[in-house]
Amino acid sequence: MTQTPQNTKKLFIKTYGCQMNVYDSDRMADALAPHGYEPVTDMATADLVLLNTCHIREKASEKVFSELGRLKELQAARREDGQDLLIGVAGCVAQAEGEEIARRAPVVDMVFGPQAYHRLPDMVAKAAGSRHLHPALRKPVIDTDFPEEDKFDHLPAPQKEVVIKRGLTAFLTVQEGCDKFCSFCVVPYTRGAEVSRPVRQVLAEARGLVTGGVKEITLLGQNVNAYHGLDEAGKSVGLGQLAYLLAEIEGLERLRYTTSHPRDMDDGLIAAHRDLGILMPYLHLPVQSGSDTMLKAMNRRHTRDDYMRVIDKIKSARSDMALSGDFIVGFPGETDKDFEDTLKIIADVGYASAYSFKYSTRPGTPGANLDGQIEEAVKNERLYRLQALVDAQTTAFHASCVGKTLPVLIERKGRMAGQVGGRSPYLQAVHFEGSTDLIGQILPLEIIGTSTNSLVGKLSQAALNNSDISHDSTRKSVSVDESRVA
Ligand code: SAM
Ligand code: SF4
Repeated sequence: MTQTPQNTKKLFIKTYGCQMNVYDSDRMADALAPHGYEPVTDMATADLVLLNTCHIREKASEKVFSELGRLKELQAARREDGQDLLIGVAGCVAQAEGEEIARRAPVVDMVFGPQAYHRLPDMVAKAAGSRHLHPALRKPVIDTDFPEEDKFDHLPAPQKEVVIKRGLTAFLTVQEGCDKFCSFCVVPYTRGAEVSRPVRQVLAEARGLVTGGVKEITLLGQNVNAYHGLDEAGKSVGLGQLAYLLAEIEGLERLRYTTSHPRDMDDGLIAAHRDLGILMPYLHLPVQSGSDTMLKAMNRRHTRDDYMRVIDKIKSARSDMALSGDFIVGFPGETDKDFEDTLKIIADVGYASAYSFKYSTRPGTPGANLDGQIEEAVKNERLYRLQALVDAQTTAFHASCVGKTLPVLIERKGRMAGQVGGRSPYLQAVHFEGSTDLIGQILPLEIIGTSTNSLVGKLSQAALNNSDISHDSTRKSVSVDESRVA
C-alpha cells in the first residue's frame, strides 16, 4: 500500500478494557496512518473496523461476537452500496481464541494478538488483496504468535500532529506481559511473558510526546513496577530510575504509572516518590484480598502484612500519597471471615478510590478448577458491602480536599457552559468557572466543594500570586498542602 491522497481510507477502532488497550489502539492507528488510514469516530463510515478486545472481564468473547454480528450487517449494507468493509479482531480475546473467532465469525478478515500490531499494515494489505476471491476461498489472516522481535522497534512513533490532536495527557507502554500467574488471571496467557522496553526507546517516545504538547505521561504495564529495561550500557534500570530520567525532560510536568504489583514496589521507586515532584502522589496498588488464606490461593506471593509494610514505606516517603486498589470478592473458598479481613484492610489503608470485582472463572486459569466456588448471591452481597465502604472512603477523601489549594492540569471544557476541567495530582476530576484559554496550564485551584465523583474549584488569584507550584521536575515535592493523608 502506498500513501496517496486518493486512497485515504477510514479507520474505526473500538477499544475494550484497560489503558494498555487505549495505548495499543493509538499505536495501531499510527501504524496504519502512513498507509492512508485516517481515524473516524463513526463506525458506519469506516472502511476498516478493528475491535481491540480485552479478556479480563466476564463474557468478554460474547461481547465481541455480538459486535461482530452487528458488523456483519454493516458489511452487507456497504457491499450493497458497492463498497467494502474490512474487519479485524485484535487484543487479548483474539490472542486467546484465535482460530475459534475465524470459525465462528467468517465475517472477520484478520485476527491478531497484542504482539503483532507492527505487522498490521501487511495483514491489512493481505486481507484487502483477497477480497476479490469467492468467500469460500477467502481465508482470514491469523497472527497470534509471540514473536522474538520487539514490536516497538517496528511501530512508528506517533507523529507530532497526531500527538497534538490527542491532547495534553498520554499513555506510554513501558512494560508488557506478566510472569506472576495469579490463579484468577488470564494476562500471563494472553499477553505473554514480562518484557520491558529499552530505556532509550521510552525516553525517545516520551520526548516526542512532550514535543507534541503532552504535559502528563502515564507509564503503562500489566506490572509496570516490574519494569527492568536496559540502558545504553546494557544495565537493567528499574521504574524508579526511569522516573528520574524522565523527570529531566524539559516540558514534562507530570508522571504517573499503572498498574503496580505490591512485590515490585521497591525502595528505588519509593525514593523516587520522595524526591520527584513530577511523580504524582497517586498510586494504584491492587491487593485483591485482605485474607492471607485467599492471597495464597490467589498465588499473589505476598501477605497482608507485606502489603501494609509497603503502604507504610510509601506514606513515609510521601505523606499525601492517595491510594487506589483492586479487590476480588468471592474467590473460591472465600469465607465470611476472609471477606471481613478484606473489609478490614480497606478500613486500615483508607483508599481514595478502588475497583472491585466479583470473581469469575477464566478458562485455562488454575482458579477455574478450584473447589468451593461461591454462590452468586453471596458474591453480590459482598461486593455491595465492599463498594459501600470504598464509596464512603472516596467521599471522605474528596471532602478532605475542600479548603485546600491543589495544582490542576486544565485539560478540557467543562460539561457546563463557562466551565473548564482537569485533574488534581490525586487524579480527581476538578471543574471550575474559567476560560478555555486556561487549557494546557497547571494552575492552583482552591477547592470549594465536591460533586459526585469530582471536585469543584475556584481559580484563586492569591494562590496564583503566591504559589511556588512551579514545574521544576526534580524539585523535592510540589508545594501543595501535604498534611492530608489519603
Ligand atoms: N496486574 C495487576 C495486579 O497485579 O494487580 C492487575 C491487572 S488485571 C488486568 C486488573 C484487575 O482485574 C485485577 O487486579 C483483578 O482485580 C481483576 N481481575 C482479573 N481477573 C479476574 C477474574 N478472573 N475475576 C474477577 N476479577 C478479575
Ligand atoms: Fe494478572 Fe496477577 Fe499478573 Fe496482575 S500480577 S497481571 S493480576 S497475573
